[in-house]
Amino acid sequence: MGGYMKISTQAVQIGLDWDTRTGAVTVPIYQTATFRHPGLGQSTGYDYSRSGNPTRQALEDGIARLDRGCRGFAYASGMAAITNLLLLFQRGDHLVVTEDLYGGTYRLFEQVFQQYGLEFTYVDTSDMAAVKGAFKANTRGLFVESLTNPLLKVADIRALAILCKERGALCIVDNTFLTPYLLRPLELGADITVYSASKYLAGHNDTVAGLVVAKAPQLAEKIYFLQNSVGAVLGPQDSWLVIRGMKTLAIRMDRQEANAGRIAAWLQRHPLVAKVHYPGLSDHPGHALLQSEAAGFGAMIAFEVKEPAQVEQLLMKTQLISFAESLGGVETLITFPEAQTHADIKPEIRKRLGINNVLLRLSVGIEDADDLIADLEQAFE
Ligand SMILES: *Cc1c(COP(=O)(O)O)cnc(C)c1O
Repeated sequence: MGGYMKISTQAVQIGLDWDTRTGAVTVPIYQTATFRHPGLGQSTGYDYSRSGNPTRQALEDGIARLDRGCRGFAYASGMAAITNLLLLFQRGDHLVVTEDLYGGTYRLFEQVFQQYGLEFTYVDTSDMAAVKGAFKANTRGLFVESLTNPLLKVADIRALAILCKERGALCIVDNTFLTPYLLRPLELGADITVYSASKYLAGHNDTVAGLVVAKAPQLAEKIYFLQNSVGAVLGPQDSWLVIRGMKTLAIRMDRQEANAGRIAAWLQRHPLVAKVHYPGLSDHPGHALLQSEAAGFGAMIAFEVKEPAQVEQLLMKTQLISFAESLGGVETLITFPEAQTHADIKPEIRKRLGINNVLLRLSVGIEDADDLIADLEQAFE
């Protein structure tokens, strides 16, 4: 093997050579629940679409290749993917978790899995000493967001993976904000990556989907057993949409990141802005680390305005930029984490994390950066 092709090339190739019968350039949508058997005790490799579907498999193979893992899995949502991974653990197991994580993940851990006897400790995963201090005798997993939400803290995946290996814990990385185009946690030693493909991978704010990639075959077997047993699989139509989105992942990320860099620099100079959190800025605490582990800084920006009243003003007066939840699509969106995405996190924790009443989050899209800046400027006025 002469090494891997680049991610941008491999993304375009997903599903390309799937249909050898007709030569269709895109993978067909195999809208079927079941598959005819060629003979007694024989199978085409597909029996029933919960267990495996060719359109879904094209996506699963594609994400596994991009992430340099051994096998991929597609789910009905990012939360379904994370749920499947949590089922790898047993009553009494303890997990160390990023503290400023996606609100829905926090809700799942605290309000669902805690009831089944899993224990969680939330720490700043950009602080190695804090992570080490949180490990206990029964710690079996580390769940870390490679770039946190909403404050964009950077975790040292390489160091965390070594720690996990030493302590016999699974290292699971939610890499939604960076995608395999910018960061490949499995190459840095992590065991599993998980994505809300609803964000950058599908990329058009039109599909809800989740993906998982396992690095090693033994772990992949266990995850496959759970995927098939629980059944929260992604349907063939949505699998096709995610593949279609992923083909343009690289050019979208390039453009979104370039736009984010310009907007972050502009916000930093703006008199009504108190603070800008963007890892591409040289004064961001995770800037150098991300530069050493990733191929870019992504396109999420969090910023604080000076007065709470400016929050509503920005949310209501932006015209090109939509006031909506979610992120990662071609359209630029603005959200208010305290009241929206992170509303389920306890107020005292939000306060400690810095998710406050002046913090806004931008998911920068592919529009012209000048137009986006002009929209923010008129909303500030
Ligand atoms: C959106 C998101 C999720 C949840 O994914 P869904 O597809 O909405 O279920 C998990 N993690 C992160 C970082 C996210 O942004």
